[in-house]
Amino acid sequence: MRRLLPIILLVFALALGTWTGWNKQKEPIGPSVRVEFIDVGQGDSILIKTPEGDAILIDAGEKEYGPKVVSHLRKLGVRRLRLVVMSHPHSDHIGGIPDVLNSFKVGGVLDSGYVHGTNTQERVLSIIEKKKIPYHRATQGMVFRFGDDVQLKVLAPGKQHLQGTSSDANNNSVVVQLITGRVKMLFPGDIERDGEGWLIASRQDIESQILKVAHHGASTSTSLEFLRLVKPEYVVISVGAGNEYGHPRKSTLKRLVKDRTGASMYRTDKNGTITIRTDGRRITVEAQNE
Ligand SMILES: [Zn+2]
Repeated sequence: MRRLLPIILLVFALALGTWTGWNKQKEPIGPSVRVEFIDVGQGDSILIKTPEGDAILIDAGEKEYGPKVVSHLRKLGVRRLRLVVMSHPHSDHIGGIPDVLNSFKVGGVLDSGYVHGTNTQERVLSIIEKKKIPYHRATQGMVFRFGDDVQLKVLAPGKQHLQGTSSDANNNSVVVQLITGRVKMLFPGDIERDGEGWLIASRQDIESQILKVAHHGASTSTSLEFLRLVKPEYVVISVGAGNEYGHPRKSTLKRLVKDRTGASMYRTDKNGTITIRTDGRRITVEAQNE
């Protein structure tokens, strides 16, 4: 018994820790905005649902993830999308968009306007045209309002697209900030150093408690200067396990670590689909794999 006692105490302490941790994360909060980082492997797909029931989708992963995004949205009771944001025309962001446009009534699309000339992009644009879905070319300063207290601000691109950067498709990503009450969330698509530099130089308020890490944690994004301005409390990396690009990069993870930023990190390759809820004041995070 004397030998067993420390083990029993340890098991008890662990159980208590898990229980209180669980309890803390699931604390009920008021009417809340729900943001789901859907696990689409190497790619992005984020659903935003407002307390009034408006749904906004940012990206839909690669083509093969289209059906998963559609069924996930249906499971959450989405019947209609007020807005579909296409951050930029790479296939890991817009590949699944045709399935989405063919499955839901869509109130409008917000696009970077960057012409990539790929079959994937042409297919998406032709569906938008055929279905006569209102098309908005994202430009800094645009604001979309949902109900009384949710707004989506367009921070980039500017009127002119950036040119001659490391990747013009990435650096001209639509950058949006979701604001509800005191809580702000930043979705910078796949912008790299040049896109971040433009945002910083634009002197817009990019400070946000929640940051979707740009470009799946690539080393060319998420500079220290950018992080110092965003001051995130939660960072989410949407990334596929064992992807061919080595995302997220060690150097990026080093810049994001908790003892440097104070931010809690979530990754779709480890945590699966991640759900963030906020009532405009408090923030809770729940992950498929805790
Ligand atoms: Zn990407």
